[in-house]
Amino acid sequence: LGKRLARLRDAQTETRDGVAIRLHANAEMPADIARARLCGAASIGLYRTEFLFLQRREIPGEEEQFLAYRDLVLGMGGLPVTIRTLDVGADKADASGLALEDEPNPALGIRGVRLALRHPQLMITQLRAILRASSYGPVRILVPMITLVEEILSVRRMLDECARDLRSTGHEIAGHVELGAMIEVPAAAIALGGMIRHVDFISIGTNDLVQYTLAADRANDNLGTLYDPLHPAVLKLLAQIIAIARRAKRPVTLCGEMAGDTRYTALLLALGLTDLSMHPGVLLEVRDQIGRLEHAALRRQAPVLLRATNHARITGVLQRMQA
Ligand code: PEP
Ligand code: MG
Repeated sequence: LGKRLARLRDAQTETRDGVAIRLHANAEMPADIARARLCGAASIGLYRTEFLFLQRREIPGEEEQFLAYRDLVLGMGGLPVTIRTLDVGADKADASGLALEDEPNPALGIRGVRLALRHPQLMITQLRAILRASSYGPVRILVPMITLVEEILSVRRMLDECARDLRSTGHEIAGHVELGAMIEVPAAAIALGGMIRHVDFISIGTNDLVQYTLAADRANDNLGTLYDPLHPAVLKLLAQIIAIARRAKRPVTLCGEMAGDTRYTALLLALGLTDLSMHPGVLLEVRDQIGRLEHAALRRQAPVLLRATNHARITGVLQRMQA
């Protein structure tokens, strides 16, 4: 497999019947950029900015963040970079610079955009830094934990204001920087129809979407098989998200761990996804897997998958699809 994977580095990502799929890299530290380039990722589909904020006493200032994002953009040599705004909450004890209050249930508490909107200066500093980096290459901004349409509207207002301020003080920034929402809270998935026109793109965060849909902590191993991407409710939500995005002509990427797990590749293609973002270490395996799949046949099976009533039946359909 080693040699085969090496050959896959420079290969196109396409199914056996020639349908192009784009594979993007998730990155959480500067070293991931080289890895993404090495395996031929189409872009950085998810840049987690948390590393800039963790294990330190001070919140990084605009200049420090700008330099980090600029290097990231330059490192990708003209390929797009989707930078996610800060996604921490009280569960990240080492985010000490943020002075977070203890919460009884951090996963359901002040994390992601909720934190950012309570500390506007935190968000403004990050948005300004990202906007300044946008003059060095294509950049998109992705907002985590969106639950309400008002949250997106608030971030959009802040973004517009930051862009105006930067331009008026002589900074060069890109003409239009796209703003997207992570769809990882079930409410956002269910009510996506009323939200989608306010965003330029969406990214499905299945790590959290599965956790919140099944009320099963993603980090609790004692739950065993309860945390399950193959629960029928998860498939239905994914299908609905994809359908709404398609109708509204908004690009959709899936960036949870599911995207990088070859057990789920056929399922994700069957549901109509064409953009998957994953850890660079698994990208070539997924590309290899896609080359074995027949896209048209998978798409025909989508209704069958969506009718299956439990994990075992869904797995059964998936096995028949790939036989
Ligand atoms: C997700 O929730 O699927 C996701 C990609 O974000 P994170 O794992 O950083 O919460
Ligand atoms: Mg998440």
